[in-house]
Amino acid sequence: VKVVHTIEKFRGELAELQRPLGLVPTMGAIHEGHMALVRRARSENAALAVSIFVNPSQFGVHEDYESYPRDMDSDLARLRDADVDMVFAPSIREMYPDGFDTYVGLGEIASRLEGEFRPGHFRGVATVVTKLIAIARPDRAYFGQKDAQQCLVVKRLNADLNLGAAIVVVPTVREAGGLAISSRNVNLSPKERKAALVLYQSLCLASDLATSVASETRRQMRELIEAEPLAQIDYVSVADPASLKELDTLSGPALVSVAVRIGQTRLIDNITINESSASA
Ligand code: AMP
Repeated sequence: VKVVHTIEKFRGELAELQRPLGLVPTMGAIHEGHMALVRRARSENAALAVSIFVNPSQFGVHEDYESYPRDMDSDLARLRDADVDMVFAPSIREMYPDGFDTYVGLGEIASRLEGEFRPGHFRGVATVVTKLIAIARPDRAYFGQKDAQQCLVVKRLNADLNLGAAIVVVPTVREAGGLAISSRNVNLSPKERKAALVLYQSLCLASDLATSVASETRRQMRELIEAEPLAQIDYVSVADPASLKELDTLSGPALVSVAVRIGQTRLIDNITINESSASA
């Protein structure tokens, strides 16, 4: 694996590689969720680049930018083992040099769910993803279903700004008990890790309920999560999988998503239910 830190070097090296090129954008602290994207991208492309950049512009002022886990040595070892061709690990200055003054403006999809609880988050995500795609010009870029709304925002952005990459969404990787793997899981104490199972349990409950009344699903999910003393709900959503508007009636596919704080750690998860049923 070749590790580069500047845009110029990254572009120069990419030009030497075979096509198609796959790009996996990450914030590092590589785990099995990231590796699922890497393996999928490896299998579908002649060349594979992974970016590692903890993007300050997608963190709110009171969020965990400073304490976000970082482990470059272990990341590089894992990516080397997975036969990644290039790792792009730019500095903040490289991505946001003096005078940087352009951010991607987003519409409705970005305003819901995470957008409501993390104002400015998707503006930062959209800006850095646009930059990474513009820099690497990949044939395919890979994102995890774990961040379902991010996938929608990125697909929209890629289409609307004609970025030209195929956006590939990879299913969520979970631990044995169902907890979605996340870089932030390292912040959970053993007790909190147990409590965090309530996210996936609430999603499974939504999937098992026979009701067609979405508010009833949300109510029962909330009840389950609220029974866990360490859990604080940001949102419980049963929404249209394309528009993310909250549903009244469950007659077709629905994106069920939750954001829950377990102690100091904010976790998100989602599943799609009624996938095979036709929408009304
Ligand atoms: P991050 O480093 O957290 O920004 O994640 C980089 C990419 O990996 C994003 O597209 C995430 O959606 C994806 N990802 C993170 N965790 C998982 C997981 N458990 N399963 C699948 N994809 C994941």
